[in-house]
Amino acid sequence: MSVVSRDKEKQYQVEATIHQLLRLLDFNPDFDENLKDTPARVARFWKEFLEYDPGNIEVTFESVRVDQMVVVKDIPAFSLCSHHLLPMSLTVHVGYIPVERVLGLSKIPRIVQKYAHTLQLQERLTAQIATHVEEAAEPLGVAVVIQGVHSCMTMRGIRSPGEMVTSDLRGAFRENADARREFFSILGKS
Ligand code: ZN
Repeated sequence: MSVVSRDKEKQYQVEATIHQLLRLLDFNPDFDENLKDTPARVARFWKEFLEYDPGNIEVTFESVRVDQMVVVKDIPAFSLCSHHLLPMSLTVHVGYIPVERVLGLSKIPRIVQKYAHTLQLQERLTAQIATHVEEAAEPLGVAVVIQGVHSCMTMRGIRSPGEMVTSDLRGAFRENADARREFFSILGKS
């Protein structure tokens, strides 16, 4: 089977499964005008979400100044929680202290998107972004902080509006209180 027809077959099966799920939940796409195209729409959504292309994230440049902290803050991202398949609305902050290589300006938001566009856990996403920056730039330290609002928490139960904060501090950010303080003061959270 060709790649294209395998892809089509998979989409068709996802559609059929969504159709069946709706039936199991007592909604009938065959009799409800509003649900008629829903299985196809949902199948398209999953494909677009999972196959999202963040673009080139590999380029690094020579760094001219050493020991200057680079912080990219307030990067918005959406992911889907592994436990409930529901959206997580995330605000991501990334800092690093380059030694010889800096990442191109657009790379960090792309790294964030690359790891957000899958089924995720906020803790794992935080670590994956930190590892990627660490391996790409080999900096003195990496700090990643994510603030997340999880629909699975806010939509059910006590409908807690709470925000979950995760952080992964490595190298200089772990060892050096000044570096840590500078990072959190740039974030406006000191
Ligand atoms: Zn969840």
